[in-house]
This record gives sequence, structure tokens and C-alpha cells, in this order.
Amino acid sequence: MCDCVNRGGVYIHVAVCRSKCIYCDFYSEVCHSGFDWERYVKTLVAELELRSCGLSAMREVSLYIGGGTPSLMPVGLLRFLVSEARRIIMSAGSGDVRLTEVTLEVNPDDVTAGNADVWLDAGINRVSMGVQSMNDKELRSIGRRHDAKKVMEAYGILRQRFGNLSLDLMFGLPGQTLESLSSTLDVFTELHPEHISAYSLMYEERTALTRLRDLGRIKETDENLSVAMFEMVNERLRKAGYMRYEISNYALPGFESRHNSAYWEGVPYVGVGPSAHSFDGRRCRRWNISDIRAYMLAVENGEKCHEEEMLSDKEITEERIMTGLRTAKGIDIVRFENDFGKEARVELLDKAASMLGKGYLKLDYNRLSLTDKGVMLSDDIIVDMF
Ligand code: SF4
Repeated sequence: MCDCVNRGGVYIHVAVCRSKCIYCDFYSEVCHSGFDWERYVKTLVAELELRSCGLSAMREVSLYIGGGTPSLMPVGLLRFLVSEARRIIMSAGSGDVRLTEVTLEVNPDDVTAGNADVWLDAGINRVSMGVQSMNDKELRSIGRRHDAKKVMEAYGILRQRFGNLSLDLMFGLPGQTLESLSSTLDVFTELHPEHISAYSLMYEERTALTRLRDLGRIKETDENLSVAMFEMVNERLRKAGYMRYEISNYALPGFESRHNSAYWEGVPYVGVGPSAHSFDGRRCRRWNISDIRAYMLAVENGEKCHEEEMLSDKEITEERIMTGLRTAKGIDIVRFENDFGKEARVELLDKAASMLGKGYLKLDYNRLSLTDKGVMLSDDIIVDMF
């Protein structure tokens, strides 16, 4: 499927959090004091070892430790995890393997000078911090534990040690206004991290946020305000030197996340840990069970802990359209024709015609991509292209 056969990613899911944020639908469990970190980390390593054949063709590998809240992990075990993952990745590739980007997701309240020293020493070279907002009232409204003061302190500690930082920002928060978003953007652009992920708050099924909205206790941001917020984020970050290289991701030149880009470019990745997803770069997708205890028992007993599916030709084509349109580079029409045939290319351009006319899509140098106007309607546009 992809022309990046030597690239690959390893994702390690740390499915525990100190408490649950009310909007979050990722699989994670609230970490109690007796949580057996050692057993959990050993299980992650054992699964990666078992699946190392999936890494054998990879020569340039990114490692991403995400969650959940990986920064809750005792630092000695984090050091062990990174070193074991490095050993497995290197030995699977029989020789000239390069571990390019090693990202750790952190929450501001776990960032101390002592922890950050160990993360750096363990080989982490990129840190992604979940900030979301610099307004304390907004942070409380979505159940985040940190405040703006803690973010500033954590950023200072990380900045002294890491040359590649990413911050998460959210818009459309309960009670958020264009003015308060603008204040958050003032701080973000002043801090000037290498990378910013900016997401619109989503009301996912079965989250406390959605229940509160349905009970009338939280008011969902109206669509026009959401659009205005997206435009503000886009414009302010562009002026500050960031390029939007994917619907929700902005980077200073040269700091696009290699790991995230791999997902959108159809590069193979191996995900370990409960609920982690994997893709072989061709047709096979698999996902682990979303249950920490059942996951650990299954790996320890050598039993199956995942489901998988083989994508049909139609699903592979749709996947290329969806992932391609998420990126600023868009769909490479020549490669699309090479992979799926002339008929598929004609059909794609036929479907695109009306949206090109309305200014939601653009076609530049054989690349079909969303315009800024189209990004806000991306979900509908992508479905229309199937
Ligand atoms: S810290 Fe992250 S993973 Fe954990 S509940 Fe909050 S948003 Fe979800």
C-alpha cells in the first residue's frame, strides 16, 4: 500500500490515568495505589517480544508511549520499558535500524525535574503534554487536574531538557469564548513549542460529558462559534510560523510528528497494550482487548488477546481517501491511479468535482486536498468521497 516500506512505528499503550477526564473515550482505568506497575510493564515487553516478527522489515522506527497517562509510570520502570523496546526493535531488524523519534505523553502534574531527567536519560527525545487550555475554569469544566500555573512550571522543566515538545490544545470547551481561546493561544504562541495538536471537543457516546449535556447541565458550543474558533486557531498558529500538516496537527518546519504521519501514510505499526491497534501496511488491522487484567493474563498464558480483520479492496481505497484527505499533502492522484487503476482515479475526481467547485477541495500538482474551508466539514466530505 505504501511507498515507505522501510518505515514503521511502535505504539505502547499505558492504559491507566489518575482520574477520568469527563470527555475521554480512550480505554484507560483509574490507577489505584496497589496497581502492579511491574507486572504491567513486563507484559508490554513480553507482547512486543512475541510480535517482533512484525518489526523485521522496519529500518526507520518511531516509538510512541501514549495513553492513558504514561507519565504516571514509576521512572525506573519507564527506563526499563524504553530500553527493552529499543533492544527488541533493533534486534528484530537485523542490523541497520534507526530509532528516530521516541515520544512520551505526559500530564503537567507529573512533570518534575527528577522525572524529566530520567525520561531524557532513558532516551525519550520528544514529549507531548496534554495542556488543553490555559484557563483554569475551562480546565475544571472538563475534569483536568492541572491548572495554568502548573503548565507553566512543567513547560519550563521540559524546555530546559527537550528540543522537541508538543502541546495539546482544545477548543469548543464548555463556557469557552473567542476571548478566552485567544488568551490560551497567546500563551501557546509565546511558549512556541515545536508542535501543537488542536482538537475540537467531541461529545462521544458513553462519556460523562455527553451525559451532562443530555441532562442540560453543560451547553454544547454552537456550530458557528466552533467554526470561528477553528479559524482563529488556524490563523493564529499560521502567523506564529506553524504549518497545519494534518487536520488537527500543526508543526514548526521539520517538526511534523513522524509517528503520527506514519498512521496517515499507511506505514505499518505495531501497537502493544490493552486496546492498542496495529496495521501491517497492507491489509491486516488488529486490536487488543480493552481490559487490563484480561490482557495481562492472556499474554502471560500465551493466549490470544486481540481481534483482527482483513481489509477488502474497497476498504483499502476508502482508507487511502480518508487518510490522504486528513493531511495537508492530500491524496497523490498519480499514486492513487498506480495502486487502484485508472477507473478508480476517474471516479475519485468525479466525486471531487462539486466540492472543488464549492471551494472545499483543491487540486494542486496532482494532489487533492481539503481547503481551510473544507477542513471544518471534513467528516462529511470524506464520506461523500466514498
Ligand atoms: S488523562 Fe488523557 S487518557 Fe486519561 S482520562 Fe484524561 S484525556 Fe483520557
